[in-house]
Amino acid sequence: MIYFWMMNRLLNDLHSISKNAIPILDTIIPIHTYVPLDLSKDNGELIGINITDFSICQNYIDTVLKRKQGIVAYGGYLEERNLYNDTESFTATSSPIRNIHLGIDFWCAAGTIVNVPLNGTVHSFDYNNVVGDYGPTIILKHVLGTHTFYTLYGHLSLDSLDGLFVGKEFKAGEIVGRLGTPDINVNYAPHLHFQMIRNLEGNQGDYPGVCAKAQLPFYRKNCPDPNLLLKLD
Ligand SMILES: [Zn+2]
Repeated sequence: MIYFWMMNRLLNDLHSISKNAIPILDTIIPIHTYVPLDLSKDNGELIGINITDFSICQNYIDTVLKRKQGIVAYGGYLEERNLYNDTESFTATSSPIRNIHLGIDFWCAAGTIVNVPLNGTVHSFDYNNVVGDYGPTIILKHVLGTHTFYTLYGHLSLDSLDGLFVGKEFKAGEIVGRLGTPDINVNYAPHLHFQMIRNLEGNQGDYPGVCAKAQLPFYRKNCPDPNLLLKLD
């Protein structure tokens, strides 16, 4: 009972950090050019399109951006996707398919700046360079009132990790990194994977970004909707 009360307090506190939308990418990109992107397996436009190929995925994203006159395509929280069908670590027959996405993705040009949405310190970082993983990844720790929680930034450029150390402070709005290229990020069209995590369960520089359906009751509580904070609707 106390756990649920604490959790609701955290969600309320996250929601009240800012009245306005928080730009997580370069602030020269106007918020109104962030447009929703549906990569779910239910999106009829994706039938027959192999979005596991990063260049085909990029073509589809470019089509959506053009149609909606956007610069950043975003979305994906709790989206059930076909994006991981080619990656054994997500589809190994010994375990249930992991295809439900636990963060929000922000698809934009490689090299685009990533800003920290709220004050934090570096918890850990790593280059998760197995194909289908996050590539360069940073996890920040945040303390908000009585709550401690974490934000994960995945698919960054390699030089985003330069000069980092555990405990390094970032103020809201400071640059934490840049979007990586497909050869570094690892094998995706350029994007930021942004995820909120309550309990890292002992992980360092990594945390699952997708889960199987049976695990969803746990993960949707442990990884709240980042848009509570970012308010991009
Ligand atoms: Zn993602």
